[in-house]
Amino acid sequence: MLGICEYCNAQFSGDPNTGNAQSAIQEQFNAHKCKRLDASQNAVRVVREATDE
Ligand SMILES: [Zn+2]
Repeated sequence: MLGICEYCNAQFSGDPNTGNAQSAIQEQFNAHKCKRLDASQNAVRVVREATDE
């Protein structure tokens, strides 16, 4: 599962096998140094779910 910051296009990955991929992505988003400091909530979005294979 992948998430992307809508402001700086940073990408974050989460392992769907752990069952908390989305929260893991959110944690990475919270920790990353965004170029847009005025980023508000929900700036990160899940752009793709691991439905393949
Ligand atoms: Zn960002």
